[in-house]
This record gives sequence, C-alpha cells and structure tokens, in this order.
Amino acid sequence: MATNLPQIPGARKKGVVLISSEGDLKKLDAYLINDTVCVDGPSSGLVLKIAKLIYEKYKVSVKVISTEPFSGQLTEGIQVVNSPVQEIVGEGRAEAVKFKDGKAVGVCLVIFVDKDMPDLPGEQAKAELMPQLLVELGTKGAQAVLNLTRQSLDSAISQKNRESKIEFPETNYYFPLINALLNIEVKNLQDCLAALAQAEVLANNQAASSGLFVPSPDGLLNKGLATLICEEILAALAVLNQEHPKEGLGFIPDKILRSLGLQLVDGRIAGIAVILGPAKDEQSAVELVRDFQSKSIVSLLAGNVNGNTFRQQLQNQGVGLGLENYIVSLGDDYLSAIYAVNFAVRAPLMYGGNKPGQWQAIADYIRNRVPAFVLLLSHVDELLVATGLGVLAFGLPIITDLVVPQLGKIDTTLFEALVTEQDYRKLVSKCILTRGIKVKMSQVAVPVPYAAAFEGERVRKEQMAVEFGGKASQAIEFLSSQDESSITDGNVELIGSDIDQLPAGSKALPLAIVVEVFGRKMQKDFEPILERQIHRFTNYCMGLMHMGQRDMVWIRISKDTYSKGFRLKHLGVILHAMLHSEYSAIVDKVQVKLYTNQDDVTRISLNAQQIYNQRDERLAGMTDESVDTFYSCLLCQSFAPNHVCVVTPERLGLCGAYSWLDAKASFEIIPSGPNQPILKGNLLDGRLGQWDNINTFVQQKSNQTIEAVSMYSLMDGPQSSCGCFECIVAIIPEANGVMLVHRDYAGMTPSGMSFTTLAGSVGGGVQTPGFLGVGKLYILSKKFISAEGGLARVVWMPKELKEVLGDKLKSRVQELGQGDLLEKIADETVATSSEELLVFLKKVAHPALTMEPII
Ligand code: SF4
Repeated sequence: MATNLPQIPGARKKGVVLISSEGDLKKLDAYLINDTVCVDGPSSGLVLKIAKLIYEKYKVSVKVISTEPFSGQLTEGIQVVNSPVQEIVGEGRAEAVKFKDGKAVGVCLVIFVDKDMPDLPGEQAKAELMPQLLVELGTKGAQAVLNLTRQSLDSAISQKNRESKIEFPETNYYFPLINALLNIEVKNLQDCLAALAQAEVLANNQAASSGLFVPSPDGLLNKGLATLICEEILAALAVLNQEHPKEGLGFIPDKILRSLGLQLVDGRIAGIAVILGPAKDEQSAVELVRDFQSKSIVSLLAGNVNGNTFRQQLQNQGVGLGLENYIVSLGDDYLSAIYAVNFAVRAPLMYGGNKPGQWQAIADYIRNRVPAFVLLLSHVDELLVATGLGVLAFGLPIITDLVVPQLGKIDTTLFEALVTEQDYRKLVSKCILTRGIKVKMSQVAVPVPYAAAFEGERVRKEQMAVEFGGKASQAIEFLSSQDESSITDGNVELIGSDIDQLPAGSKALPLAIVVEVFGRKMQKDFEPILERQIHRFTNYCMGLMHMGQRDMVWIRISKDTYSKGFRLKHLGVILHAMLHSEYSAIVDKVQVKLYTNQDDVTRISLNAQQIYNQRDERLAGMTDESVDTFYSCLLCQSFAPNHVCVVTPERLGLCGAYSWLDAKASFEIIPSGPNQPILKGNLLDGRLGQWDNINTFVQQKSNQTIEAVSMYSLMDGPQSSCGCFECIVAIIPEANGVMLVHRDYAGMTPSGMSFTTLAGSVGGGVQTPGFLGVGKLYILSKKFISAEGGLARVVWMPKELKEVLGDKLKSRVQELGQGDLLEKIADETVATSSEELLVFLKKVAHPALTMEPII
C-alpha cells in the first residue's frame, strides 16, 4: 500500500507513516511522539478521528491538512492547515513539513491516511463490538446492585430515620464519587435516597440531573456508573454498621491522597493496580506484587473467592503490607473495591481545580492523569462486570487472567478496555502496556530488587542481620566534590570488616559512607543536596532501612537481603549508579569509600562536622535580597494544571521538598524541566514581595488564572496551592491573627474546620486570600507572612507541630525578641473553638490582639 504515499520529496523518510486500516494505527506505537504531528488524508471526518486519537493518547499538537473547507468539529490541540504538503524535510527522518503556501511546521511524525482506507467504526459499529455476554451480565449486575441498595437503604431508614447521619471518615468530599459525578453532598440517609434515584435514572440510560451521561452501546457505561454510585452507598452503610473496615484500610482518608501527591507527580509512584480477587497461588501473588513494587506501582487489594484473598496469600508468604510497602489491603470483600474508585475521583477535585458535578472534566482528568487500572483475578460474576463497566467509564482498563470476551479501545479508554493474559509472567507488563504507564526503572547491580516501592520498608530487629548507627554504633555519611584526578569513577572501596566478618555475637558495626564526586557543572552548594539523596537511594533497596542524615544515620540490613548476597560494597554500587542516573548533568565521576573501623569513623566525623557547620552558616545567610533569581516549580501541574510554586531562598515549595538550592540544582540537571530560573525584575512592592517578572511568569504559567502573586502575604495575592502542602495557614478574623495546622493533625481547629476540611478550600491551584498552603520550614523564615506581621500573628497551632519545629522555632521567637511568644500561641490542649481561643489569647495578652487589623 506504500504506493499510496504521495509523490512528494521526503515522503519515504523515517517518521512518515501511511495508515490504510484501523489496525495500522498500531504502527504509531513504534515512534516517540512528543512533538507536533501532521495528519493528511482524503476525508475530513476520518483525518479528524485520527487526529483526536493522537491528541488524546500523546497530548501533542496535531495539524490536520485540508485543502477544502474543513467540515469537522475541531477540539483542543487540533488545528487545520489549509495548504497541501510540498515537502518533508529532515536529516534522515521527518523533522518539518513545508507547505505549498511557503509556511513550515516542525514535526516528529507525518501521517498520510490512505485514500482507500475505510472509515473508523462509528457508534453503531462500536455497538456491535460490545460482546453480548458483557451486555447481559452488566445489565443483570447493575439491576441486582440497584435492588440491593434500595433494600439496604429502606432497611436502614426503618431502623433509624431519614435524617440519620452517614459519612466516610476524614474526608471533605462527602461520598466522593457521588459528590464528583452528581454534585450531591450526602450527609444523611435521605441524601442517599436522592443519589440512588439518580443511579436509577442512569441505569435507564438517561442523563442524571448533573448532566452525567456517557454515550455507550446499550447504555452499558451508564449502568456501570449507576453500579458504582450504589456501591458507594452500600460501602457507607457498611461503615455505619461497623462492617467496614475489615481486614484492610477501608475508606482512604483525604490526607493519604495529599501525602501521595508529590510521589505521583515526580514518578516515585508510577501507577496504581487495583487487584481484585486472589492469584492462582501464593507464590504467584508474591511474584506479581514484587514485580509491581519493582516498577513503583502501588497495589490496592480487595475481594475474595471462597475466603481466599490476595492479602492472605501475601501474608502467608511473609510479605509486609502497608502504604510504605506500596501494598494496601482495602478489604476482603469485593465491595471494598469502591474505595479505590472514590480515592481516584478525589484527585481531580483536590488537585485539578475541578468542582463537584463537572463529571466530564473529572472523567477526563482520571483518564489522562490517574495511572490506575484493574487487575481482575480468578473470578468474575455479574456484579463485577457491572462494576467493571463503571470503571471503564473513567477510562481505567481491566486486565484479567480469566477467559472473557475481549474489548478493544472504547471511547473512554486510551487503549484496550478489557484484556486477558493467562501467563502470570506477562501479566504485569500487559497491565503497564494497556494503561500506557511509563515505568522508569533504575538499573542497579544489587542482588535484591531495587525500586522506590521499597523506600518506606522497615527492617525490624528480629529480621535484621546487621545495623549501623542509631543506638548501636557510630555512623555517618558525607559527600564532597573533589578534583577530577583524585576520583576513579565507579571505584568502591571498603576499609575495614564487611558484614560477613562481624565479631561473634555482634550485629553492629561503625560506618562512614564517604562519597566523592566530580562534575564540570558541580557546585559546592549542590553537595548537601546530593548527600541528602543517600537516604532515598539506599532505601530503594529491598531489605535495607536507612534513617537520618549526616552523622545521625541509622541503617539496617535484613537477614533475607544479606542471605541473597548483599554486602557493604553494594551501598557504593547503589550510590554510584543512582548519582549517575539522576544527576548526570552535574556529576561526571563518583567514587565511594566505606569505613568500618572506629578510628576512621571518628576521624571522618570530626572533619565532616566542620563542613556541616559551614554549610549551615552559608544557608542561613541566604536571603531573598541576596539573589536576583527565584525558581519556579511546575512539577505539580501534571495534577494541578494552573498551580505555580515560586521558590525563593527564604520560602521553600509548599510540599516541603524543594528549597531554592534544590530548584537551582534541578534546573542545572534538567534545563527544560519544571524548575526554571525567574529573574525577579523590578520590585513592585517590598512589603508584599511582588516583582514584575515574577508576576509575568506566574500569569503565563498559571494559564492566565493568576495575575499577581505576593511572596510574603496571606491576604493580598497569596500563592496558589496545589494540594500537597505540609501545613495550612488560615486567618482567624476574630483573633486578628492566623492559625497553623499540619497534615497529620486530625482534630478540630478554632477555625471550626479540621485540616481535611480546610484543605478542601485551599487546593486546586487557586489563590484564596486568608488561606495558604505552606511547607513546614517556611514557618521559621523571616519572610513568613511578613506582610501581615509574621510569626507574631500566629495564635494557634497543634502541639505536635510546635514539637516538630522544636528548637528552631524557639530560636526564631528569641530572634524576634519575643521569647515568650510560644507560650502565648494556643494549641488543642487549651482551645479548639474560637471562643476558647479568645479567652486564652486575652489571658496571655497575645501580641496579635493589639496589632493592626489583619483585614
Ligand atoms: Fe509541587 Fe510546589 Fe512541591 Fe514543586 S515545590 S513539587 S510545584 S508543591
């Protein structure tokens, strides 16, 4: 069919593809599609369908070539060029397209649609593709769950009453799925009835009152959504009746989603596998989950077959469960799967700036930004089919080990919708391929699995082969830059005993990890940043626990990891590989020396102390005035598209993970990455902390949603918040001050809201005067809401937050000349309501009461 390529110069170059059939679209998988694509073909309708497929899948700009008036409906990302292609230009491959009108466009791919190609299937044809068995089972399942929900609600109402309260714990989103899709805030049983009525409308393939309606053959996807709505009600009834949680976490609180935000955006979590049912045997369960862990995919478990669960299979094999291990049991019944759905549906509400009821945008967000899929094992029934159809409505595919009718790409999914893979060795890669997850794997030559999923793993005493530091011995880690000539790249040297030479009866050794690096672009300021990565890099190793930093390190190696051949040199192997892998832009050579003799460790520690002190002094001396450049962080835009963090020497990113130096180093490493330098430009307002260039940058990168941003103000143009903030600053007008609350505080605050409720009104990339998401360390900065008077405005914070900030907070108030301020700041032991707070503040004569009005 290549004869149907147009006879123009460059048409045979690599990167020029002829599509003659629907199956040919698979050819595109062979290309890295990361830039503009041109699509040329005989029919506007067909070309537009292909352009839409490309845009949805790759999110790149698509130019459709049409020499006649274009009849199709253009959507985001797709433009028409009204001039024929004259030539395809590029060195060996297509790099640009020249048009007859003299214009040109840079491209990564040019697609010609064969003039003989049949049209892609329309709605009618697609209906025929929906296997009849799915239609029958899905319809039956949806009806069964509707009946069950109606009966369960009637019975609950007869036992209690319609006004009886019903809720999930620690969420600001009521019943998150129902809230997101139907814009109903379910607070009592009466509200459940209202949601059920909407589910019944949907099951009849009619639009719900929020407009929710997903076109599909036989209304199957709407039946699926009705099923999910019912399951959310049934799960809440199970919580009410104390039947949930059982053998699992149950409902996932908002704070867990917030704490995972950064890991999802920076790739430490590559995907989410919702595993329903047990594996064919225990060994297969372990292998599956280890494979997911090694690819940084979190497994959420639910369901059982005759009492046999995936959870139990793992526990029988001694696999540790928990979020820190990337394995979370939601519950042993299939109903618990709904907790994965109402977890996913909160991401667009929390981070995406979507409002309840914006079901279309919410579904798009989940399809494009939440890398989840369902792995259905060992069992299927009509309820699971109906549930699965609901999941497909959000674009989340289903992979199974069962022989079921296959379902190719449907309108809501990016790729295939339902896929069977019976070979367990291929299941994980099939899941990754079907969901289109990009897995970044680190190649580190150690004898045990190595991945971010092992970062939070603990090694308990009884599992431990050997430890360093903590209370057991002295341990230290120190990274410095050296001359090129003094470093042999990859050299790992052990000076002293290895862990297989421990003295009899001993399980501890002293340890100094000394890392020496050279890089043409390396700077002294980057040394502490690289040194801090030792914690993360070593923790990625299965069976290795690393805590602390500098000379407060504590490392444990498990018996299992030791027995697989792990020795001390592997610490060096890890650090060498990972520093090259993640920091190759600033690091050219790395060598590691490991010392286990006490004298060496003491000597190195004394020397390192001096350097640590110098680093601290240098950092403490850095101010916003001492630099002319701040840095952006746009990492969270993959979740919160309008959010921009501006990171300054005196104000770190609100997630607490990016200081100005981190952002600077990150820019050196990836110049086109999320951390861009912003020359401050002209100072517009020193009190608020506004500069003209910063405003222009934020305006542009927030998609024109934010006009001006104040670096130092809570009330006037505060920074937006994406959702993964460590703390919230919130105004308490009646106290003429502000309160602080951190993510781990579950109780009530004097604002009348818990952290979770407050967080609901702060996130989503919008400016909210009076409310601000911040990193913990910003509280200690001289620039902390300095426009409103700084720390002296703080009237309340949880006791635990005071303790976490500890001595640094004490020094800061001393520095302010207000040594007694800490005692004047209330906490939950003296006030959890504004009335109690005012009584306390008056009693202690808090300075905020006499400061100028905050509003
Ligand atoms: Fe997200 Fe801001 Fe942290 Fe960057 S600094 S990861 S944008 S919260």
